[in-house]
Amino acid sequence: MALAQQFSRMRARRAAARTRAAPAHLPHVVVVGAGFAGHAAARGLLRRLHGRARITVIDQRDHFVYLPLLPEVAVGTIEPRRVAIALNRSLRGAELITGAVDHVDIDARTVSWRDVDGGHGRTGYDRLVVAVGSVGKLLPIPGVAENAHGFRSISEALSLRDHVVRQVELASAAVDPAERAARLTFVTVGAGYTGTEVTAQGAALTALLVADRPTLAETPVRWMLLDHSARVLPGLDPRLSGVADRVLHERGVDVRTGTSISEAMPGAVRLSTGSEVPTHTLIWCVGVRPDPLVAALGLATDRGRLVVGTDLRVPDHPDIFACGDAAAVPDVTRHGAPTAMTAQHATRQGRLAARNIAASLGYGRARRYRHHDLGFVVELGGADAAANPLGVPLSGVAAAMVTRGFTCMRCRVTGYAWPWTGSSMPAPAGKRSR
Ligand SMILES: Cc1cc2nc3c(=O)[nH]c(=O)nc-3n(C[C@H](O)[C@H](O)[C@H](O)COP(=O)(O)OP(=O)(O)OC[C@H]3O[C@@H](n4cnc5c(N)ncnc54)[C@H](O)[C@@H]3O)c2cc1C
Repeated sequence: MALAQQFSRMRARRAAARTRAAPAHLPHVVVVGAGFAGHAAARGLLRRLHGRARITVIDQRDHFVYLPLLPEVAVGTIEPRRVAIALNRSLRGAELITGAVDHVDIDARTVSWRDVDGGHGRTGYDRLVVAVGSVGKLLPIPGVAENAHGFRSISEALSLRDHVVRQVELASAAVDPAERAARLTFVTVGAGYTGTEVTAQGAALTALLVADRPTLAETPVRWMLLDHSARVLPGLDPRLSGVADRVLHERGVDVRTGTSISEAMPGAVRLSTGSEVPTHTLIWCVGVRPDPLVAALGLATDRGRLVVGTDLRVPDHPDIFACGDAAAVPDVTRHGAPTAMTAQHATRQGRLAARNIAASLGYGRARRYRHHDLGFVVELGGADAAANPLGVPLSGVAAAMVTRGFTCMRCRVTGYAWPWTGSSMPAPAGKRSR
């Protein structure tokens, strides 16, 4: 038999062995949430405990979403399927349940969930990983819930893209100049990385769409980026803010710091300064808060995140581990303050949770969480980005290359083919060569 055939049969046999359900007498590890932290935890558990534990992963989605690329999905530079990884393919060997966990009985050690058809299920656990991440923060501002576009899922990103394109088309068809101007006004609230990325890239997208429509030649496109803070990208290195601010201004974005909105209406928003801005597009990027399941657990929390030790264990509950946005993991490199809610931390914490769970079952040694921030990347579209890998500030093409290289690297780590190397983002209006 040809060597290639033998290898292929061997691989098939191994895959079949991995997908077979593990015997019920083995310790049962349940991972709730398959985002950055949960996905990394599940993969680590499969590697470390193959054949030694039953591993069940429960998520309301059947795929892992690479959230940092949602702004690119929203402006159409990346196809949605490129930012999703099917769980059944990437977590072979785990029992997968598509459902939303709605109750954890800590005394009885059971997890209950609701599936998409309204059915219920329940399973026991010996070890539990809480990795449910965070949800968008909705402030009690009238009209926001009804009129704003959120930004947490592929479907929301696609819906925003369609909405923006539709506004340009409706503006093109409008005879009333006021309506045309309102259709071409886009307001983003929140100048964190999500709001800044989607605004910078959105401005480039609409510049391209408008350039294709002679009827809109005389109508300016207006993007506004509002934030209560004194600068864009608050909380990140001020040098990144400087780069982002420059790019936003070059693209004609009206950046208003120290400003938010006080009301959202179907055809306008009222700014906190009192003035009204006619618009049909309000993009809501005002931070995140831990998933509501965290509060429902009834365990100690810190700013809504589950309190854990540096070993990611919940104090007094040695069978429960938490990681990612849902957990207040002490950052020993920053005097024990909770680690930032970033993909970088979530992934590493997920891997460590797997290691420490294996250790708790007698395989290997536990470790403490310790990770020095590697820096941050902000994709601004075209040849623009802001990045500070290992604290070195970069802008322009160098930053864009680091940003995309980093993305490709991350996607490979998660077993995902990433063909996107260049940029299909249109050049911003001011920079386009004619
Ligand atoms: C638009 C956007 C852009 C971002 N950009 C960046 C960036 O550029 N750089 C960066 O470092 N970070 C970025 N982040 C933050 C980063 O994505 C998060 O810090 C990271 O996703 C946290 O990982 P996690 O595993 O804790 O949560 P998530 O990745 O959110 O995963 C949580 C998982 O839990 C599941 N889940 C939730 N509740 C339940 C339940 N009750 N039952 C079952 N399953 C449940 C969810 O479906 C989800 O799959 C961005 C976030 C967003 C939304």
